[in-house]
Amino acid sequence: MVSSRFSLEGKVTVVTGGRQGIGKVVAHALAEQGSDIVIVDLADATDVAAQIAAEHGVRALAMTCNVTDPEEVGRTIEKAAVEMGGLDLLFNNAGIVLHKPALECSPSDFTKVVDVNLNGVFFVAQAFARYLVAQGRTGNIVNTGSMSGTIVNIPQGQASYNASKAAVVHLSKSLAVEWAPLGIRVNSISPGYIQTEMTGTVREDWRQIWTEMIPFKRMGTPEELAGAVIYLLSDASTYTSGADVIIDGCFVTV
Ligand code: NDP
Repeated sequence: MVSSRFSLEGKVTVVTGGRQGIGKVVAHALAEQGSDIVIVDLADATDVAAQIAAEHGVRALAMTCNVTDPEEVGRTIEKAAVEMGGLDLLFNNAGIVLHKPALECSPSDFTKVVDVNLNGVFFVAQAFARYLVAQGRTGNIVNTGSMSGTIVNIPQGQASYNASKAAVVHLSKSLAVEWAPLGIRVNSISPGYIQTEMTGTVREDWRQIWTEMIPFKRMGTPEELAGAVIYLLSDASTYTSGADVIIDGCFVTV
């Protein structure tokens, strides 16, 4: 049965940036498919983990960790593996945005965005893959890129964000090739304009212009990209690695 290949029963998935927004909704969706969940976030997400466990009858754990600190990331992955009895899947999703014209960006403005969105994604993927290799396990990773890695929106000062997200997609492809012999698949998703806490801070006039530019004439919801993450993390996609799935209301696609 092809439908059974979408099941995540018996799997343990690490979700970074899972306290809110896309990460939180996708964590719920992965739990619906039967996966146990480890939420990794800067802030405490114990309430989110408790809600996931109660609603979906899976085990769920919350761990605080700054993804920009490789040593903290390594300790977090090791501890999560011990507490959950093993790890299988990673939704590598934590990210930040900065709206600031490039001429006004300080070095720390620029490097902070790259540090979370690119370096953090690499540190978590590397720690996760090192754990899998050390344990003789195979696994599967989905990194969160963005349509902003492919197109440049109207002038709004997102050079650091756009550059970091373009790099995430190519990093995913590079890791996919390098880790294919290890039985570790790496894919990315590139969401368009999705309703979350992150986009809640965007200026209303920009929001209206962007929405008008999207062929679907609306923002997307995190629920509308959860299926793609389930597909990429599950056995439904066993012949897919290095792919980027664009979910953008037909924005980049056209
Ligand atoms: P949110 O801001 O709603 O959520 C991001 C989460 O990442 C937060 O829980 C935040 O934690 C966490 N986080 C940030 N920095 C760190 C860090 N250094 N270490 C650990 N966790 C961290 O954003 P979205 O849900 O909208 O975005 C999720 C991902 O999707 C991001 O990578 C974003 O770039 C990407 N994306 C979003 C789009 C959108 O339209 N919303 C479009 C395309 C891509 P805390 O709040 O505790 O600081």
